[in-house]
Order: sequence, then C-alpha cells, then structure tokens
Amino acid sequence: MKRHFALGMFLCCCFAFPSQGSVFDEARHKMVEEILGDTSATQSPLSPAVIAAMEKVERHRFVPADFAARAYDNRPLPIGYGQTISQPFVVALMTDLMRVKAGDRVLEIGTGSGYQAAVLAEIAGSVYSIEIITPLGKEARERLVSLGYRNINTRVGDGYYGWPEAAPFDAIIVTAAASHVPPPLIRQLKPGGRIVIPLGAQFMTQYLMLVEKQLGGSVTTREILPVRFVPLTGGH
Ligand code: SAM
Repeated sequence: MKRHFALGMFLCCCFAFPSQGSVFDEARHKMVEEILGDTSATQSPLSPAVIAAMEKVERHRFVPADFAARAYDNRPLPIGYGQTISQPFVVALMTDLMRVKAGDRVLEIGTGSGYQAAVLAEIAGSVYSIEIITPLGKEARERLVSLGYRNINTRVGDGYYGWPEAAPFDAIIVTAAASHVPPPLIRQLKPGGRIVIPLGAQFMTQYLMLVEKQLGGSVTTREILPVRFVPLTGGH
C-alpha cells in the first residue's frame, strides 16, 4: 500500500512538473521545425546531419542565464562584449552550405559562445575555432570542455590569418562580416573546399557568400542571401 502511494507520488511528480530538460528539448524541437520551414523557402532541404546536430546541441547552455528561457527563439541573442550568438536559422544554413562530412577538419572564425563550433563538432572530425575577444574565447573554451567536446580546438587571436599550423581545412566558416574574403583563409582551404562568409560593412547590406575553391585552385563566389552580422575586427 505504502509502495503504491510512493509510486503514485513519483508518477504524479513526473507528469505534473516536466523537468526543465524536457521543456528545453521540446522548445529545441520546435525551433528546428521552424528552421526547416524557413530553409524550405530559401534553398534545398537541410541535410539530415545538420538537422540532427541542431536537434542535439543545447543552445540554452551557450547563452547567458538571463536569456536561457529565450534560447530557442529563432533569433540572435547577446552574449556580452557587444557580441551575439547567431540566429539558429543562420547557423543551420551556414553549416549546411559548408557541406561538412564525418572526418572533415573545419575552421571557424568567431567562436563567440561556442554554439556554432559545437554544431560543427557533431558532424566534422575536428573543429578549430578562433575568437578575438579574450574573455569570450576563454569562456567558450571552458564551456565546450565542460560539455565534453573533445574534437574542438580553440584559440584567442585574429582569425583573419587563419590557423596555418592546422591547415589545410575541408571547410571554413566566418561568423563576422568582412569587407573581403581573407586571402590567408583561401590559402588554408583544400581544393574542392568551401568558405561560408558574410561580406559587407556593418550598417550596410551584407550578403552571405559561398566561396568554392576548385580542384585546379581557382575560386568562385556565389551570393546566398542578405544577412546582418557583427563586424570582423582585428588589425588587417
Ligand atoms: N559563432 C558564434 C557563436 O556560435 O556564438 C557567434 C559569433 S558572433 C556573431 C561573431 C564573433 O566573431 C564575435 O565573438 C567576435 O568577437 C568575433 N570576431 C570578430 N572579429 C574577429 C576576428 N578577426 N578573429 C576572430 N574572431 C573575431
């Protein structure tokens, strides 16, 4: 009798008060559904690997505690130091455009919160990510280590110059708007590889660009869609 009562209480607690985890899981799933709706209007369907990564990575762990309740809104959020975690739709689209495969080595410029790096790490073999703002870079590194990501390497520095010791990369993503594609990044990209980068000035229209390095070494660029990113800073 006592055992039934105890079991009854347990079930009642489980159903009456869903854990915070399940609330976030549900919100994340809704966010992915929304992204799928948005991307179907702009391009070919997202790859199953990108969808799985977006379903898996817990964005609420990458935003300041004050914003956790809004972590699964499909919008950018502040992460301090005047920077933002990108809109989930943009993260999914950029990841998809990179065409990352299992085992690939990828480079990210602009670690920020570490969220995009985590999404990439779900698909790629190894991720190298550079952040120019020291405290953001340190926080992201600690967060990624505490979340158990072993295939992400981070460093603080100016990403304009890439990460030559780890090159060549299968794909490169730049998550801040530049005036041009940094030549060191083109040099550090494998033939057949892709760079996804927003180009344009801060308060002007910026375009997300897909840069492809052909097997012979020539480079083609294609405009994808208008976007708004914080600027790529640094001394270049
Ligand atoms: N990918 C991030 C995430 O998932 O949270 C969001 C990145 S935020 C839109 C752009 C980031 O690029 C900022 O953290 C900014 O400090 C960084 N950044 C700007 N210029 C940079 C540079 N030259 N090298 C490395 N990081 C840079």
